[in-house]
Amino acid sequence: MERIQMATPLVEMDGDEMTRILWKMIKQELIIPFVDLKTEYYDLGVEHRDATDDLVTVDAAEATKKYGVAVKCATITPNAARKEEYNLKQIWKSPNGTIRAILDGTVFRAPILVKGIVPYIPTWTKPITIARHAYGDVYKNVEISAKKGAKCYLTCENPDGTTSRELIYNFSDSDGIIQGMHNKDTSIASFARCCFNFALDTKQDVWFAAKDTISKKYDQRFQCIFNEIFEKEYKASFEKAGISYFYTLIDDAVARVIRSEGGYIWACKNYDGDVMSDMVATAYGSLAMMTSVLVSPDGNYEYEAAHGTVQRHYYKYLKGEETSTNSVATIFAWSGALRKRGELDKLPALVHYADMLEKATIDTIEGGIMTGDLYTMSTLENKQKVNSEDFLKAIAKKLAAYLA
Ligand code: NAP
Ligand code: MG
Repeated sequence: MERIQMATPLVEMDGDEMTRILWKMIKQELIIPFVDLKTEYYDLGVEHRDATDDLVTVDAAEATKKYGVAVKCATITPNAARKEEYNLKQIWKSPNGTIRAILDGTVFRAPILVKGIVPYIPTWTKPITIARHAYGDVYKNVEISAKKGAKCYLTCENPDGTTSRELIYNFSDSDGIIQGMHNKDTSIASFARCCFNFALDTKQDVWFAAKDTISKKYDQRFQCIFNEIFEKEYKASFEKAGISYFYTLIDDAVARVIRSEGGYIWACKNYDGDVMSDMVATAYGSLAMMTSVLVSPDGNYEYEAAHGTVQRHYYKYLKGEETSTNSVATIFAWSGALRKRGELDKLPALVHYADMLEKATIDTIEGGIMTGDLYTMSTLENKQKVNSEDFLKAIAKKLAAYLA
């Protein structure tokens, strides 16, 4: 079989532990036999990050800006235990945080649905994609404990020399707490553009919600910026694509989400996204079936699995024990990145390959061959639990047939 050609390299970011093992197997079994794979390789494994004083992470993010598309393996975010385990020079920052800061992006998380794995909300027959605004609000707040008798003010020193001042609360009868938080018009606008671009990319509606009835300046600013950008920059292309933008109050949104069948992008303020993404992921059944893509406002894409490095399985693997680790989200990171590369470079064969890779993966599971995590959840009658490698071999067999 002639292998499919690529024009521009993908930025490939290798990672850690069990997902690093899967990474290699996926390339060997599912990609290299079919695609003449071109990548610019960055080793984001924790040892190499340490050896390069974490500069490799910055280089990988810069390369993503240069080429536009990256695929990333799960990586260890060091903590004190990891510092000791890998004898690290210091507790390096989260690679995802570093990359996100450089690309100024928004993360979109979407579940992969297969027959036999029924969501806890059975009406959710299509994926709900959550987009979390990852800047500001309570995550960059300042807090003060106030003593009984304290009078607390919000003060803003304006550039024209005037001061705006509001009484927050007069703690005349009790101790208490106060909190100051902020957001930036530029960041909210970037977030809005990422959401609208991704909606056009994936042909899905956008829902956005805040609490503008209560928060008449803060939350209302979010609503206004979204609305203004949509009206000015996206309305026409949304109409052309047959998709819509919908704003409602956050409590109304939650009620509608539960009653919905899915199939839209739910844009969330930072805290809402933190909480709701965990709820939605759990309801769809498995973190191992959750994809994640970081999209920047100027159109760079970084694909990865939403789960971590599956440390527990890796320790089994190191002891020579058999593992049955689910590689689906990592496979979809590759297919997502290769499809996007194919679209940008106008290579229909590469786009078709990505479609077939996803179809072969889903058909394998729906045909009853699956890893242990899905085996315990699947309602299929004829199901078979296989190890990490045999799962990929079963997909490869189908993929070869689909591409023949
Ligand atoms: P994790 O790697 O997501 O795994 C947690 C548990 O979820 C696993 O022990 C396993 O359960 C199950 N699981 C997750 N993915 C699975 C898969 N593909 N197949 C089968 N089961 C899967 O989270 P963690 O153990 O908390 O974190 C490990 C490391 O990953 C940490 O160092 C963390 O910093 C890093 N991390 C990285 C990213 C990223 O790069 N995006 C994200 C999150 C965490 P059982 O053990 O019960 O089988
Ligand atoms: Mg959370």
